[in-house]
Amino acid sequence: MPEKIKKAGISITNQNQNPKQDHKYNQESGPDGNSGSGCLFVCSTPIGNLDDCSFRLIKTLTDVDYIIAEDTRTIRKLLTRFKISKPARKIISYQDYSSPTKIEFIIEKLNRGGNLALVSESGIPSIQDPGYKIVNAAIDEGIHVTFIPGPNAALSALVLSGLPTDNFLFVGFLPKTEIKRKEKIEEVAYLPYTLIFYESPVRLEKLLGELLGVFSDRKACVAREITKLYEETIRGRLSEILAEIKSRKVKGEMVLVVEGYKKELIKNYSEGDIKKEFSKLMSQNIPKKAALKIVMSRYDIDRQTLYNISTKI
Ligand code: SAM
Repeated sequence: MPEKIKKAGISITNQNQNPKQDHKYNQESGPDGNSGSGCLFVCSTPIGNLDDCSFRLIKTLTDVDYIIAEDTRTIRKLLTRFKISKPARKIISYQDYSSPTKIEFIIEKLNRGGNLALVSESGIPSIQDPGYKIVNAAIDEGIHVTFIPGPNAALSALVLSGLPTDNFLFVGFLPKTEIKRKEKIEEVAYLPYTLIFYESPVRLEKLLGELLGVFSDRKACVAREITKLYEETIRGRLSEILAEIKSRKVKGEMVLVVEGYKKELIKNYSEGDIKKEFSKLMSQNIPKKAALKIVMSRYDIDRQTLYNISTKI
């Protein structure tokens, strides 16, 4: 019987040391026979193109005892496409607003040794989709939770945008009420990270206008209908994209990606200004190398020119 590793509030589970699970499942082949509690497979599904289903997804959906689905019609389409037969009683419908007893019902099935797959309408469950509460409850119960990676609209749009990917922030859908929307926009306005918003086509124009009012005219990208027939990316400044959106009706699902905040460097300065700034930093016992870096982070100046000025002090 595998041991549960629990140290001062930390719980660690892995394939060999799953606290409530006697059965082993194989990363490549999916679940096999089991005893003890089952496994929750959090499954990513396509965001449009059904060909984006992974072999592991198909295998898992075939093998599991139950599928927990946000939209039973959407999962039916996918099952039909891949000739997976699952009777209706094997598909449990679950939405964010489902009652807590639905989660208890799901946990009970897992505790009894059932293997369950969790799918949302599209992409990764839990990412602006139901799932989080089930994953959380399963973890609390010491049930093994694993992930079937796959499509996600936010990351697909980020890559398509051509904007920096080293640091980014997923904002998702903005709140609907005006005050909360404004607060959120202001909260993210000065973060130096590429920002990713989900938005519906009917509110895209409004969102672009709101962002333009608070952000400067930054680079952005609207990626719509990713992986579908009418996939399109519109790249440009916020104002240019807004003009384009106003000129025609854009339909379908879309993600807006916006460049992060960039500190404005001081452009109008004299040699005297630099000397003064540099001397001030040195007088605070800041090492020369660090002082050079600080001045460079504030002024639009190249390293050599700055160094030459520093030697004249
Ligand atoms: N769980 C999903 C994921 O992992 O991306 C997100 C689901 S969220 C309810 C739906 C939103 O995701 C849409 O309103 C849209 O902003 C975005 N989205 C989903 N599919 C998309 C697609 N094919 N192209 C562009 N955006 C998409």
